[in-house]
Amino acid sequence: MRGEPPASPPALTPTLSREREREQDSVPLLQVDNVSLEYRTPERVVRATHRVSFDVHAADRFVLLGPSGCGKSTLLKAVAGFIPPVEGEIRLDGRRVAQPGPDRIVVFQEFDQLPPWKTVKQNVMFPLLASRTLGRKEAAERALHYLDKVGLSKFADVHPHQLSGGMKQRVAIARALAMQPRVLLMDEPFAALDALTRRRMQQELLELWEEVRFTLLFVTHSIEEALVVGNRIALLSPHPGRMRAEINSHAFTLDSLGGAEFQGTAQRIHDVLFEEEAAV
Ligand code: ADP
Ligand code: MG
Repeated sequence: MRGEPPASPPALTPTLSREREREQDSVPLLQVDNVSLEYRTPERVVRATHRVSFDVHAADRFVLLGPSGCGKSTLLKAVAGFIPPVEGEIRLDGRRVAQPGPDRIVVFQEFDQLPPWKTVKQNVMFPLLASRTLGRKEAAERALHYLDKVGLSKFADVHPHQLSGGMKQRVAIARALAMQPRVLLMDEPFAALDALTRRRMQQELLELWEEVRFTLLFVTHSIEEALVVGNRIALLSPHPGRMRAEINSHAFTLDSLGGAEFQGTAQRIHDVLFEEEAAV
């Protein structure tokens, strides 16, 4: 860093070092800094997001909310390290994200993200073994620990086809959490579930967060889901996605559904998300 203060007298040192510690603490865990993302096909270039910036802090439940096609999945893939920005930079713990890594694990919407020939426990163990994070015995123990957290201990030895959609998503969540990533990335993980199961999964995700306090970057196009799941929400404009606003939603839970304040906020978000379209 430039402009380092000169060596301080001894009496002041403790205070200064505490200040430095605080400074370090305040560096966001994940920084998405002016990020533009594009798909290049032989015929054309599709700009998926345009100069998007946001910071995610440890234990945030940060939601990317926007209409279909605004670049949410693309942003998540860029954070995961699959797509390099054409402009801007993504940093994790201050270091540029250049490739996928076990510190960022994605849970997708699709129910077929679990190899069907592996049992539930083997599915959860697999990334731990493949990344050489743990040996077989420790991986099995950790898999069972996280399967227990998502209420699936009894299903450790069955195969995915014997599970409901909600249960498969619980396995995918256990598998991701077992890697103890710095950031858990979720791309519309409950969108293919029926309404009641979806609500239950949101509840369970929040309970899991209360217990484990992981850092979450969650993508949805549902305003209601964003308000329930997130403590902070980034609103993205329609294609190409740009940041419209960021709102603090930590006050809302499943219990606030249907309340006047919840409805009012949902309406305001709706207006912000679609004001560009309305103006056309
Ligand atoms: P969202 O997840 O918000 O629905 P996406 O990130 O999937 O949006 O897509 C953003 C934009 O990029 C869309 O216009 C989409 O059509 C385009 N897109 C997505 N994937 C590809 C691809 N593989 N090739 C070309 N364009 C793509
Ligand atoms: Mg998507």
